[in-house]
Amino acid sequence: MKAVRLHEYHRQPVVEQVPEPRATGPFDVVVKIGGAGVCRTDLHIIEQQWAEKSGVRLPYTIGHENAGWVHEIGPGVSTVEVGDTVILHPTPTCGLCHACRAGDDMHCENSAFPGIDCDGGMAEYLLTSARACIKLDRGTEPADVAALADAGITAYHAVRKAVPLLYPGTVCVVNGAGGLGHIGIQSLRALTATTVVVVDRNPEALKLAEQLGADETVLADGAQVEAVLDLTAGHGAEVVLDFVAEQGAQQDAFAMTRRGGSHFVIGYGGNLDIPAIDLISTERTVVGNLVGTYNDLVELMVLAQAGRVTLHTRKYPLDAALDALADLDAGRVRGRAILTP
Ligand SMILES: [Zn+2]
Ligand SMILES: [Zn+2]
Repeated sequence: MKAVRLHEYHRQPVVEQVPEPRATGPFDVVVKIGGAGVCRTDLHIIEQQWAEKSGVRLPYTIGHENAGWVHEIGPGVSTVEVGDTVILHPTPTCGLCHACRAGDDMHCENSAFPGIDCDGGMAEYLLTSARACIKLDRGTEPADVAALADAGITAYHAVRKAVPLLYPGTVCVVNGAGGLGHIGIQSLRALTATTVVVVDRNPEALKLAEQLGADETVLADGAQVEAVLDLTAGHGAEVVLDFVAEQGAQQDAFAMTRRGGSHFVIGYGGNLDIPAIDLISTERTVVGNLVGTYNDLVELMVLAQAGRVTLHTRKYPLDAALDALADLDAGRVRGRAILTP
């Protein structure tokens, strides 16, 4: 089969022939890929940023946002059948450790992360496990939903955690309305009655945010903190979801959070510098967020299949993987680039 393989860091991956994976373990599932999302994390992998953390051996196949059809199952698999349409939670987990038993998939002690620490989904077929498969309506086009498996679940997970804080009358700031932020806005609309204020430096992104249901938009032109304070009678927001968290946006996000409020860090790249006295005197909470649980993705797919969360995509054939990576790197992709083998 064809696969997008990374042979050397700081060099482009290669589209080449490799053997197809087989379902040899009892809970193995081989999925015929219908869509594989192209993510900034793929660029960071090529730049060697993940090499030490993941411990992956080169060459390997990248691609961690995957959906498709079940192609082969191991003898113990009873939850999906050959031919089922599925989206894949990014980490096949063990199901037996403490975190797994609490439903906290991202902190499983024995999980893999295909596309990061082993062969991923930018290929015709992917080996995963029954625990990662979420069965979708037969009519769902995998390429339309694949990116919900990472970008979507990450935004939804943060919103889901913030829901108890976002009762009617509250304000939630969405800092950054790109790939993750635009799912965050739709999730807030579907799950809460909070007032949604969207901050972004791109006027086009703010236009899209308005179409998706933002109550207020703020252009990040240098005066965005003051603008949010003006909109909240000088208090700031009960919740700030920071989808950027680099180049100073993380400091802005904390400054936009009101007394007793919560600052959710979802993007990464920058350092957050907060004097301890500011934390204790205002009792603000800073919350980290890592991808999401299997159940988060199940819930998000309910919204997606009901048309309440939609993803803007641009499709590329698998052979054009390098074009997709180059377009993403150069900022030429609107929404999400998806490879379709
Ligand atoms: Zn991703
Ligand atoms: Zn586990």
